[in-house]
Amino acid sequence: MTSPTPLDYLVPPYVKRFQAYIPSKPDEELKKIYRCSRIFRLNNNENILGPCPAAAAVIQKFPPLRAAIYPSGDAYYLRYKLADRFGMHPDQFLVGNGANEVISFAIKAFCQEGDNIITADKTFAVYEWVAEFSGVESRLVPLVDFGFDAEGMLASIDARTKIIFVCNPNNPTGSTWNRQKLCRFLDRINGQQIVVVDEAYAEFVADPDYPDGLDLIREYPNLVIFRTFSKMFALAGLRIGYLAGSNEVVEVIRRTCVVYSVNSLAQMAALAAMEDSGEHVARTRELVSQGKAFLKREIEGLGLSYVLGEGNFMMIKLPLNDALAYRKLMTHGVMVRSMTGFRFPNWIRVTISNGEAMEALVEALGKVLGEPWTGNKKYCLQPQLGGIKTS
Ligand SMILES: *Cc1c(COP(=O)(O)O)cnc(C)c1O
Repeated sequence: MTSPTPLDYLVPPYVKRFQAYIPSKPDEELKKIYRCSRIFRLNNNENILGPCPAAAAVIQKFPPLRAAIYPSGDAYYLRYKLADRFGMHPDQFLVGNGANEVISFAIKAFCQEGDNIITADKTFAVYEWVAEFSGVESRLVPLVDFGFDAEGMLASIDARTKIIFVCNPNNPTGSTWNRQKLCRFLDRINGQQIVVVDEAYAEFVADPDYPDGLDLIREYPNLVIFRTFSKMFALAGLRIGYLAGSNEVVEVIRRTCVVYSVNSLAQMAALAAMEDSGEHVARTRELVSQGKAFLKREIEGLGLSYVLGEGNFMMIKLPLNDALAYRKLMTHGVMVRSMTGFRFPNWIRVTISNGEAMEALVEALGKVLGEPWTGNKKYCLQPQLGGIKTS
């Protein structure tokens, strides 16, 4: 008989107090639980159109023997392609198993126990989570008018602050900082901390004043940009994203990378996605713009408040608990993101998808709210929308 493992002693306190994230069950299981015949997945901001034709072809033709061979350990060709596209050096890019993994690389590279990172209270939670389970304090500055509060974040900095995470556009509110606001913030930081700007939804942004973070790296060597192939490029299932920064900063972060974490197929598909003419991006943007116009009108018709900004998602406020709403909507085959985890109790976030899915959502919401849907069945075109809006 071996002795019981002394977990109490083995596990660090910051891991003890951390709760594991519970991923949703596979669709087939959910269909049984909620007795629905199909599921519209509106919970993860995926792109319903799927990958562009060039990436789809690469995926279909993947040679099985390649599965036996380790991938490029540093996504060689993809980094050269990125460098060529954005006028940078290949060594300024680090490719990871989704942008989620590069969050981890950055925190590991700069933070030790006792250090802190700063971000917003209502944003993508992975920055906070990785910090917390790594023994790093996360300082969460409340959003102001649904956007990141530059002054509040500056005021939270102390000698142990290593990284400031700005999600631009913000998931889930869709708020953005324009170029002037970002540059003024970077000027105030004056190179003293790493500033990460997460641009997971950059390709969706319509605002002409939206700053391309990659352009600013030359001027601000402490700036690190995150991008992903999961959202616009529809490769979420293959897990591939990247960070970009100055040579000095990336050289440090590279030390914390896990070699071979990005598989061969993901690298090939991402490369192909970058070679698309732009048609796939244009089609996706059109779909999102139509979906937003439709939802905005229908959600207003249901008398609900919402927050709608950039990105392929929208937040809706419900007169009931969001976990309950999730379950009720699931019985109608509509899967949304409940927002208590984002500190927005009673709110849900929905992905902007095609007409069929948007109609299913509105119809299900109507039922859940106890009234039949009387909205316009016809899914029709409408021009571009304004910025953040609450009603
Ligand atoms: C989806 C998302 C990511 C992570 O994307 P990966 O699938 O891990 O590449 C990062 N940041 C934000 C804000 C996101 O919404």
